Amino acid sequence: MCVACRERQPKKQLIRIVNNKDRGILVDLTGKVSGKGAYICKEEACLEKIQKTNFLSAFFEQSVDEKIYHDLGEAIKFERNAKSI
Ligand SMILES: [Zn+2]
Repeated sequence: MCVACRERQPKKQLIRIVNNKDRGILVDLTGKVSGKGAYICKEEACLEKIQKTNFLSAFFEQSVDEKIYHDLGEAIKFERNAKSI
């Protein structure tokens, strides 16, 4: 389920953000990194929503680097380009 729009989506349509014990909070494009995870749609609207509310800081109960939101944006852009080819 996407944490921004609360819609259920197949895992393929979602991006996972995970808090890994060793590596900290990161965008997990493999879906295999262990730790507490949140999912969002590969949609800029959903990214904007969680960025505006700083959802990830609340979710992981620690401050989340802006870079995470940047990485999510890049991942979404990449997906869109891959689709249009
Ligand atoms: Zn969503």
